[in-house]
Amino acid sequence: MDLSERQELIVDIVKERGPITGENIADELNLTRATLRPDLAILTMAGFLDARPRVGYFYTGKTGSELLTDKIKKLSVRDYYSVPVVVNDQAHAYDAITTMFLEDVGTLFVVDQHGILVGVLSRKDLLRTSMGQQDLTEVPVHIIMTRLPKIKVCQKDDLLLDASIKLIENQIDALPVVQEHERGLEVIGRLTKTNITKAFVGLVNQDRI
Ligand code: ADP
Repeated sequence: MDLSERQELIVDIVKERGPITGENIADELNLTRATLRPDLAILTMAGFLDARPRVGYFYTGKTGSELLTDKIKKLSVRDYYSVPVVVNDQAHAYDAITTMFLEDVGTLFVVDQHGILVGVLSRKDLLRTSMGQQDLTEVPVHIIMTRLPKIKVCQKDDLLLDASIKLIENQIDALPVVQEHERGLEVIGRLTKTNITKAFVGLVNQDRI
């Protein structure tokens, strides 16, 4: 994040004299407290400064890249996942291919009649099946899917970073977002490489505010 000249000055004053009140920073710069308020809010939000009630502002000592790392480590799956696209475990390969096209996704989750996760189907799983001589309307998805316990999953409260590491380490494009249910794992969302790309772009846009 690029700081304005005045914000740089504020950081310097706080570095030298902190903890220091907003009032005193304003005096130092010959500005009113009201003029300074937006800058102080930005510097605090961005993590350069910290504010303690009745004590004042102090410098956190963090560099721009440390602050970015802090921000990335706080991102949670819950703020980025999408609605899941599922097929029933009784479906056939042909239905799955149609769903993939209609819903414009690359990964389908296979669920039983209670919405409980039983498998994952990727583009390659379906392509592989299409290369054979079988009739795709006859091949049940449960024969070609990746099944439990091999499925990698994540939960809403997981860190986005941990979910991203799972995608990379397992060389997969998507994770089902699940929650524990008495019958198994209920599918409540999907987290894909696209969601992570959006989070990445969002970080930059946040910085422009
Ligand atoms: P693609 O097949 O389009 O390259 P992936 O890389 O996601 O997509 O899938 C590769 C293989 O990993 C497929 O066989 C798929 O069934 C399996 N797979 C996909 N997602 C998961 C997951 N979350 N957990 C376990 N296996 C998965």
